[in-house]
Amino acid sequence: MAAVFLVMLYEYSPLFYISVVSLCFIITAAMVLGWFGFDVPVILRSSDDADSSWNIPEKRMVQKTNPFSLQIGITPSSVAEGMALRPGCLERCVLSCYWGCSVQALQAALHTHQHGLILSTPQVFQEALHSQYQHCQTFHVAKGDLEECISQMPADLGAVDFGLMPRSCYPLVALLTLADEEARDVYDIVANVTVVHVPDDKYRMSARILFQYLLTAQGNMFELKPLFMSAEEGGQVDLSGPTPAMEEEEEPGAEGMEPTAESEAEGEGTPGVGRDCVVCQNAPVNRVLLPCRHTCLCEGCVARFQHCPMCRAFVLESFALSQQLPAGEEEEDE
Ligand SMILES: [Zn+2]
Ligand SMILES: [Zn+2]
Repeated sequence: MAAVFLVMLYEYSPLFYISVVSLCFIITAAMVLGWFGFDVPVILRSSDDADSSWNIPEKRMVQKTNPFSLQIGITPSSVAEGMALRPGCLERCVLSCYWGCSVQALQAALHTHQHGLILSTPQVFQEALHSQYQHCQTFHVAKGDLEECISQMPADLGAVDFGLMPRSCYPLVALLTLADEEARDVYDIVANVTVVHVPDDKYRMSARILFQYLLTAQGNMFELKPLFMSAEEGGQVDLSGPTPAMEEEEEPGAEGMEPTAESEAEGEGTPGVGRDCVVCQNAPVNRVLLPCRHTCLCEGCVARFQHCPMCRAFVLESFALSQQLPAGEEEEDE
């Protein structure tokens, strides 16, 4: 039957071939047209138009002056030789160093601060710790003094290390508080608690700041975290200035209080200005992306990205480093 059909088709061969070729042409043309007809505009759209509509929520910020700054000194440090700390304060301060401070006691003390007992003096802090530390040393720091304070455990305590990981005590907890009563009314931030790792025989990782908390007069606690920004131009300023520009993130527990504060030292230039946006290379960096904290975009480019251009992390929120745009910027464009 099929053979008869094929023989019959063969007899009409020119017509058969023409129709087969025409059919193939129509199918191919439909596929090609369909392909371009749908895909080309999609490519065009995804590169420009679609992305520009991202609306990254703006994080509400309140600018606060942080009178405290504490950095690790340049002198090599260890538990046996002591630890060099470099405070830089806007007012007269007291630096109290608690060696071998119990982790639990510190957490409990910070907890009491958030429940009414404001840790604004070393005495209150000491009481809140219930003396669960091995040694305490106090320094008086003058206003604007950048000299290193070298704190050391007394040799007669015989402490050379704080045991193996996981430890029950922090090597060193440094507390900065305002020395003058009147100054406590000026600043919202009344204390800076810095947890420092000090190398010893059991754990030789170099000295570094593990955590830094700011305590406010209202009984709130904020963790100070660094921003990640290019250090090519003027980046050194951030490291050597009395108070490095840091951003203070709202604690999840601090309900009702929105002020996520950005602290900046007086006299320090606005950070970010003069540094080029990594995308357009044409405007100063002014946007901090959260939660990755990369500071690499200008005001104009931030709306085009849903993911951080540095680490590809999804951007949940962003905030501006400085509210006012540099005055020279608009004039140049005109
Ligand atoms: Zn840009
Ligand atoms: Zn990032």
